[in-house]
Amino acid sequence: MTNVTIGAAQATRIEEMYTADWDAPAFFPDWRKELVAPHLGWMVPDHFDPAKNSLKLSIHSWLIRVGGRSILVDTCVGNHKTRLTRPKWHLMESRYLARLAEAGIRPEEIDMVMCTHLHADHVGWNTRLDNGRWVPTFPKARYVFSKTDYDHYLALDREAKAPVNHGAFRDSVLPVVEAGLAQMVTGAAEIDEHLTLEPAPGHTPGSVVVKLASNGERALFCGDVLHHAIQVHHPEWNSFVCADQDLARKSRRGVLEHCSGTGALLMPVHFGAPFVCHIEARGGGFVPRFV
Ligand SMILES: [Zn+2]
Repeated sequence: MTNVTIGAAQATRIEEMYTADWDAPAFFPDWRKELVAPHLGWMVPDHFDPAKNSLKLSIHSWLIRVGGRSILVDTCVGNHKTRLTRPKWHLMESRYLARLAEAGIRPEEIDMVMCTHLHADHVGWNTRLDNGRWVPTFPKARYVFSKTDYDHYLALDREAKAPVNHGAFRDSVLPVVEAGLAQMVTGAAEIDEHLTLEPAPGHTPGSVVVKLASNGERALFCGDVLHHAIQVHHPEWNSFVCADQDLARKSRRGVLEHCSGTGALLMPVHFGAPFVCHIEARGGGFVPRFV
């Protein structure tokens, strides 16, 4: 279990899966063998499997404990969800809740859930199956959603013949809203004395990043503004799921500049081990410094 200390705050990685089965050139359209060759030394084996030409990506949540409160950032894919268009996420039965228990917390002790965006691998554990119904997994939490993303996917879901985001909007977002637990945020927002939320659009229209500050130390939870550490070296590389190409690049560069300029620890959702890194500005670009 990865534990990180940021001032008086503790962040614990809650793993759902960590697998090398993402075809690299399909994931990053700009992937070229000659461009990644200089990076194999640090990428293999925790970030890339050269035998399969596959990215090794984690899907995890960050459990933040600060000021006596427990906050979960991003909630993975979830169990028992019908995901016909993503076979490896279909009807999953992971040990996610057991891992949360191993981290010393019960679902009813979570005070807040923050989703950096509303894709299926960031909202899944918002709900769990209870007698055939999707109910909030964290019944006492306030769930913070970007209103821009919510409005975007609500409109798409109404228009679409098939449910959007592999079905996640209907089974992992709407039940939380219907239970009255959602707090919609527009623009930058101060969540409490330690946490702020800032728009970082591009990957989705309403993507946000979460900034944590405690006792002079900082961290930035970047959601899918970056998927893989190779994007620190190549901030111009978008993933195949980024919606607005130019905005996604702009937000990525903004995150890297913030982390290199302030010393904030980068806390991604999908990077391989050791899962977090500092960012150093070097020669007009950036390099990750894993911790
Ligand atoms: Zn994701």
